Amino acid sequence: MADDYYKILGVSRTASAEEIKKAFRKLARKHHPDMNPGDKAAEEKFKQLNAAFEVLSDEKKRRLYDEFGEDAARMGFDEKKAAQYRAYRSAQSAGGGRPFSGGGGVDFDLGDIFGDIFGRAGAGGVDVEEILGRRAGARAAGPTPGEDITARLTLGFAEALTGTERSIAVQRPGRCQRCQGSGKVGTPTTCSTCGGSGKVRRGGILGASSGSCPSCRGTGRAAPPCPSCQATGVVEETARLTVKIPAGVHTGSKVRLAGQGAAGPRGGPPGDLYIETQVTEHPLVRREGDDLYMDLPVTVSEAMLGAEVRVPTFQGEVTVKVPEGSQSGRRMRLRGRGAPSLKGGTPGDLYLTLQVKVPEHPSSEARRAAEELARAYQTDVRGSLQL
Ligand SMILES: [Zn+2]
Ligand SMILES: [Zn+2]
Repeated sequence: MADDYYKILGVSRTASAEEIKKAFRKLARKHHPDMNPGDKAAEEKFKQLNAAFEVLSDEKKRRLYDEFGEDAARMGFDEKKAAQYRAYRSAQSAGGGRPFSGGGGVDFDLGDIFGDIFGRAGAGGVDVEEILGRRAGARAAGPTPGEDITARLTLGFAEALTGTERSIAVQRPGRCQRCQGSGKVGTPTTCSTCGGSGKVRRGGILGASSGSCPSCRGTGRAAPPCPSCQATGVVEETARLTVKIPAGVHTGSKVRLAGQGAAGPRGGPPGDLYIETQVTEHPLVRREGDDLYMDLPVTVSEAMLGAEVRVPTFQGEVTVKVPEGSQSGRRMRLRGRGAPSLKGGTPGDLYLTLQVKVPEHPSSEARRAAEELARAYQTDVRGSLQL
């Protein structure tokens, strides 16, 4: 186990951020390789200083380090994993039990939780069994369920309404082909950890006791660890998947692909893949929930005399009856012409807002018609405009 980070920097556990920074600067100057050319001990010391400072200068990392010590580094300073670890520890002190499912043992399998915590600790590959053997002497990590993964996918406005099929590439921890996810390859031989007895003395955080050998799970024989996946049964891969996006998704909708998440360490079941959709805006149509809103331009005569006009919708063109005497801004509803309901209910509606268009450059004929029209108003159009 590495030296305590506080000791390395020569500060107390209650040292302020400023004190830590000062101590680091002073020591780093002293042990800097440039100041000690060829001095291996100084180089090592300098590395330790940097490692200690990287953790203690970061408020979150320092807090996790204070609580979990070196384990925090193995957890990648991940608060979620730390919380799992804390739950595990409190379950232990409350008298055992199985706070986490998975694994095949009848009694509490430390491997389950350690597998969770350490199973994916970076590409460097922290060997779970190595940690357990060295630190806790507990049983080997068994199969652990893989994590769920979320991938984002951007869709066009119309695509989101009609549904679509997309080919996507997902970077994920996949099942190691070489060992079929077991983490072991080749012929089992006498286990080197227990010498074939299947039993080891447990120690460390569980208290000393005798238990099953972590390497062979008590069988006395073990296959060599798979070199392709460092015995995790999992390797990083890029998978090409075809995703069916159902009609009616919104920005933030999640499409679940069961079993397409991260592979489970040591042959555990895979997690799920969630495709979170992001829908682009449309220049003419606004969407609110499953309802759509669009302006419908009409001529002066169509608004005044009424008309049947052709209107494009996402389900094809429809004929809309504009009532006689329609004012600009009049709202009309086309029932069921909105977005389909994702949950299989009634689809949304399409709302049209009439927009009366006048000729922008009226001819003399249009001017005469407009003047004639002006005389046709029987009341003052602004008569009700009293503030
Ligand atoms: Zn493998
Ligand atoms: Zn063994």
